[in-house]
Amino acid sequence: MQINFNRLKKDIDELGRIGRDPKGGITRPSFSKADLEARAWLKEKIQEAGLSCRVDGAGNIFGRLGEGQGKTIMVGSHIDTVINGGMFDGSVGVLSGLECLRRIQEEGYRLRKPLELASFTDEEGNLVGDFLGSRAFVGELDKELLEKGLTAFGRPLKEILAGTEFTIEGILEAHKSRPEIEAYLELHIEQGPVLETEDVPIGIVDLITGKHYRWCSYIGNASHSGTTPLELRQDAFLGLADFALKSTQYVATKHYGSMVTIGKVNVMPGAFSVVPGQADFSFEFRSGSKETMSVLESELFSLAEDIASTRGLAFVSRIIDKTEPVKIPPRLINLLQEECRKLGHPFMPVTSGAGHDAQILASKADAAMIFIPSPDGISHSPQETIRWEDLEKGANLLLQALLQLAS
Ligand SMILES: [Zn+2]
Repeated sequence: MQINFNRLKKDIDELGRIGRDPKGGITRPSFSKADLEARAWLKEKIQEAGLSCRVDGAGNIFGRLGEGQGKTIMVGSHIDTVINGGMFDGSVGVLSGLECLRRIQEEGYRLRKPLELASFTDEEGNLVGDFLGSRAFVGELDKELLEKGLTAFGRPLKEILAGTEFTIEGILEAHKSRPEIEAYLELHIEQGPVLETEDVPIGIVDLITGKHYRWCSYIGNASHSGTTPLELRQDAFLGLADFALKSTQYVATKHYGSMVTIGKVNVMPGAFSVVPGQADFSFEFRSGSKETMSVLESELFSLAEDIASTRGLAFVSRIIDKTEPVKIPPRLINLLQEECRKLGHPFMPVTSGAGHDAQILASKADAAMIFIPSPDGISHSPQETIRWEDLEKGANLLLQALLQLAS
């Protein structure tokens, strides 16, 4: 059995037309007008395929095949995008999963276990933190976060939901309708350059790194830049600059392979002739090891404090998000490798530096991921693309793996 590749390609093209942004790429954050249109489109496709369609309180969309006994084998990803994102991130996983279930249905294949497609809400974190849908699905959401949380657009989540059939209570209850899941598979674009550089069409993920996000501030004293001697300043920006360099040096020399990034900076008051009194910045670090994550947490923030006290500043921070690294279970890695060999597709192990729904599902089921190359490593951009022949290989691997797991 093989997937119907032309049909899959047509689906990806069709979905890729919803939410086109005049400024480039696709803008389809969850619960936006474009997203609601994409949801309606997906539900129709699921029903056309003869799968039973269900939507939970968090807006996660499911398509189920077979009422067989035993735990569910799940396949999925997401159809929301970042602002001015690409048409493949997430979509290739959901639509390949749909195509696999559709083929199995068409063949009238009898499986021992139920198969279910999942499209998770707001994987991209445009609402309140990453993975809203999959976190709701496993039941690890915080009521206070949802009630007080602001979206990436600065609006309260409640306000975004007001135009939809969804509520905060519904999101918090979503996990109650979750079936028992044995395994979860997700096909995704790599979003990095490794597979293309190595010229290998399939990556079998061995590890998904954990991340730690904080908003941080150095607070000093704004003063006149012409009259305040250098040694008497409490320059918040210099605290930030010192921390940026020293934290990067520390990670590069002591924990090579881990990542540290300051992605957004705001210096206040932000003018000529004024020594900066406050510097706010985003600070994140990532690692594939739980132990390293906790070492980094204590070392990096004690470094931040040391710099503050040396420079006469205050340092404050608050945690925005935290995920644990996830090791993919060997039984699923072995299964994917074996099916890849049978199909004759070259493959290699890869580590995912980006987070995915699979990472969240891993707390409730064995979860694994298949990557296909991202040309030039580009993702979260209108330039994001794929080579279609890689997707065909990846989707056929997904089909074979699902058949093995559900038989
Ligand atoms: Zn994604």
